Amino acid sequence: MADIDDFIGSGSCVLSASDEAVLEIIKKAVEGGISASFYVSRGMAEAITSWYWTPERIRETGVEEVSTDELRRIEKELGLKDVIHFANRTPCENCGHVYGAFEFIEQGLREHGREMVEATLEMKETALIRVNPSEVSVCPKCNEKITEGALKLGERIIGGTPVGHHYGGTSAYAGCCRLT
Ligand SMILES: [Zn+2]
Repeated sequence: MADIDDFIGSGSCVLSASDEAVLEIIKKAVEGGISASFYVSRGMAEAITSWYWTPERIRETGVEEVSTDELRRIEKELGLKDVIHFANRTPCENCGHVYGAFEFIEQGLREHGREMVEATLEMKETALIRVNPSEVSVCPKCNEKITEGALKLGERIIGGTPVGHHYGGTSAYAGCCRLT
């Protein structure tokens, strides 16, 4: 209870409900476009990912298995092992650089800090599911947002709709469910 008290003190919430109720709440958050992070059991994470990752969703988002080469590069250059399983790959409309698993993990380290990322990966019982995260993918080469339908104007782009990064992680970092 002391842990819960600390946690609530830092401005979050702990939910106690049946597995069915938790699953229903997470589904509603996904479908309602609500941004939230859920720390759930591994079993619950599996239930959510199998509900979310339908064959249609896999096709629509264009996720593919992260290659061994890219996983090796993530381990070597970013120092993180076994962190991501599959992801979509989107070319930057400004410079053509492809935003994939490596770029996503790199941006995550930059925005959340190594300590936070490593602490998440070290969890033994818990899985983190991110629902409709608000971060926008940014191209590491030219700093433009990863978009579709933007207009190229010389060295930069204007307009366009941000393209969400879709991915599935490993056991502690189970991945994300997003509408767009
Ligand atoms: Zn770019």
